[in-house]
Amino acid sequence: MSVDLEDYFQVSAFNAVINRESWQSIPGRVESNTDNLLELFAANNITATFFVLGWIARQYPELLARIVREGHEIASHGMNHIRVSAQSAHEFFQDIHTSKQILENCTGQPVRGYRAASFSINGKTPWAFEKLIEAGFQYSSSVYPVRHDHYGMPDAPRFSWNPVKNEAFREIPLTTCNISGVNVPAAGGGYFRLYPYRLSKWLIRRVNIRDGQSAVFYFHPWEIDASQPRVAGLSRKTRFRHYLNLNRMADRLARLGQDFRWRRMDEVFLDGGPA
Ligand SMILES: [Zn+2]
Repeated sequence: MSVDLEDYFQVSAFNAVINRESWQSIPGRVESNTDNLLELFAANNITATFFVLGWIARQYPELLARIVREGHEIASHGMNHIRVSAQSAHEFFQDIHTSKQILENCTGQPVRGYRAASFSINGKTPWAFEKLIEAGFQYSSSVYPVRHDHYGMPDAPRFSWNPVKNEAFREIPLTTCNISGVNVPAAGGGYFRLYPYRLSKWLIRRVNIRDGQSAVFYFHPWEIDASQPRVAGLSRKTRFRHYLNLNRMADRLARLGQDFRWRRMDEVFLDGGPA
């Protein structure tokens, strides 16, 4: 299970209407949403990996301490939610290095994992994995092997792989279900709110049974916040994707907790699997 820890106004789809300089002046909702989420996880015996923006760690160090106390893993989501493909290799290194230091100073624990904003490690960023190794990361969960207008690397492996020769470093992709040769997204986010719950459950179960693999599921704290302020000036498509079925999310997550066993990513994929 994984959570991308950012506030509702920080999503890439809002870049055109909310610039980064204004983030500071917008009342945050991530803290109360995450507290609700921690309760939901505890009630359903879920432990997760939180991919945290450096920006969030600086604003809410106490929130990170609460997440760690509940037994979850802290990993990096970069500093300011800039796509990897919009950075040079050098800028990218600075970004991941700084974010790792901030998170480690804040939690006192080593940070092993990284997730790129908008799954933006792709064919245009061949240096990204090497930079992650150089910065001391052990895994990334940044590739979504699907076709999508904002992200995706459709021909990448569907399950954990070593992107750099002779290195133990792993890419642990977002889960897809292969149906008649097509990779169908099965990893949460907007698709989980779009699909009926039963379809999501069927897709994840199929990956568990047919492929014999654990699923990587992700979502954001704002997805359980149906009363978040509506942002003006968005395209119809962005509005649809962002606000669809927010009121159903918490119930669906609880059902996921009952139907499957969810653990933090380091435990499932790095440390020999859950006990
Ligand atoms: Zn994100």
